[in-house]
Amino acid sequence: MKIICIGRNYKEHIRELNNTVPDEPVIFMKPDSALVPKHNPVFLPPFSNNIHYETELVLRINKLGKAIPAERATEYFDTIGLGLDLTARDLQQKLKSKGLPWEKAKAFDFSAVVSETFLPVSDFKNLNDIHFSLKINGKTVQKASSADMIYDFAQLIAHISRYFTLRTGDLIYTGTPAGVGTLHRNDLLEGYIEDKLMFKKRVK
Ligand code: ZN
Repeated sequence: MKIICIGRNYKEHIRELNNTVPDEPVIFMKPDSALVPKHNPVFLPPFSNNIHYETELVLRINKLGKAIPAERATEYFDTIGLGLDLTARDLQQKLKSKGLPWEKAKAFDFSAVVSETFLPVSDFKNLNDIHFSLKINGKTVQKASSADMIYDFAQLIAHISRYFTLRTGDLIYTGTPAGVGTLHRNDLLEGYIEDKLMFKKRVK
């Protein structure tokens, strides 16, 4: 399986990192070795002093598709989970300033937290208004709705599948809202979709 991530999909987050609004979705990938195993904590890697959390709604692809039209895109996922796209922000700034790819800052081992449970699409009244949030040590640090996305799920799937065949089990991280920040040892991370606790992880 592969993990496809979307960058710069929420205006307030683009602003907080001084980036510009893209004229098409920004795509990058993580290998399957980036997934944090079920019972593992989040480990801070030794090559960075600034690992950022980015809380994101995650779509799980449930059938094979290529060049999927936006009108049919919602047929290609039937569950939604919550994840963290962990980012070595210091390393990413360095790579960006040299115009180099982001992989080392984005796709390293255990850079992808994902909830064990995925919620059926049928649980949601409106896919374009799903609320989600992250608490660190009990304090809410990110809180947003899929309504705030620049490109919605259907547009993302249509765009991604022009370039990459989607297969069952692939995950799409749909971008993070504002409020990203640095993780510290012993932080307790709790991710929510609406009022459902989706994951609870300790930072080590
Ligand atoms: Zn992200």
